[in-house]
Amino acid sequence: MMGTEIPNIVVIGSINMDIVVETPLVPDKGQTLLGNAMTLLPGGKGANQAVAASRLATHTTLIGAVGQDSFGEQIMQNLDGHSITRAIASLADESTGIASIWVHDRDNRIIVVPGANGKISWEDIESQKSFIDHANVVLLQLEIPLETVVKSIAYAHRCGKKVILNPAPALPLPDEVYPMLFSLTPNLHELSVMADMPEVLDEGNPDALQRAMRKLIDKGLASLTVTLGAEGAIYMDASGNTFHVPGKKMTVLDTTGAGDCFNAAFAVAVAKGQPMKRAVEYAVAASALAVTKFGAQNGMPESDEVEWFLQ
Ligand code: ATP
Repeated sequence: MMGTEIPNIVVIGSINMDIVVETPLVPDKGQTLLGNAMTLLPGGKGANQAVAASRLATHTTLIGAVGQDSFGEQIMQNLDGHSITRAIASLADESTGIASIWVHDRDNRIIVVPGANGKISWEDIESQKSFIDHANVVLLQLEIPLETVVKSIAYAHRCGKKVILNPAPALPLPDEVYPMLFSLTPNLHELSVMADMPEVLDEGNPDALQRAMRKLIDKGLASLTVTLGAEGAIYMDASGNTFHVPGKKMTVLDTTGAGDCFNAAFAVAVAKGQPMKRAVEYAVAASALAVTKFGAQNGMPESDEVEWFLQ
């Protein structure tokens, strides 16, 4: 595509309502206690990544599912406010996905009920395939059924689309998936699971990171970008190119959604035809800005902020 055109990104993934409960204590078995506050925040990796992509000035479509309930309605309204094209099934007899998040003493305890996210099928995605046909990049995560993810990747790949998979939460992937991806974007923990190399998490063993990355590349992957939290991200591709983009020093307020922001920004840069080094730099800059604001979707930066930050 030409540099001045606005790219099309299609995100296929989960849509949740996060129910955040702040509590002075964690209840014991059989105990009831009073919490301090409750906040409803639209979330889910699919929705978060779609919001981030739309803020970064792309035409963004979100393909997913909600239930026929009031959370589903609130989520739809929220997406309208972000100018995201909604290709969202409203599934009868399913609840909208939720994450019940207890915040106590700066620690989170989280229970996710996937609801409609756990029921979305390839047939639901296929009914929206014209969006995939017009995409520059298709971006997915693993919070919807793996079979649906694999079939969606296969379709997008057959159409010649660049497919980026953010393998979160961590799951071993079927081998057939790797050669169909333009890029895979695990964090360290996800890399350790996918490569089946727990030593990746051992700080005294930096070689393990490179070996784990090579192990996945050897499965037929074109490229791999591993996010390293405050340390930025490291890239490797099948031609043997590798580089590290250091993290930006920031005053951190809330890291929720940093990974989602990274993935969206990376997808946006790829959709604009940027070279990989530039795409990873853009994603590291965008996600660094995201950690300076509260909330996942609320913390996603605008494209002007990222451009300014990169100067
Ligand atoms: P999360 O699950 O918290 O959304 P993640 O585990 O998927 O994130 P991380 O590797 O923690 O992903 O972070 C993604 C990107 O966000 C990093 O590559 C980095 O660019 C940025 N980032 C995260 N934490 C920080 C930080 N403390 N300071 C600066 N940048 C950060």
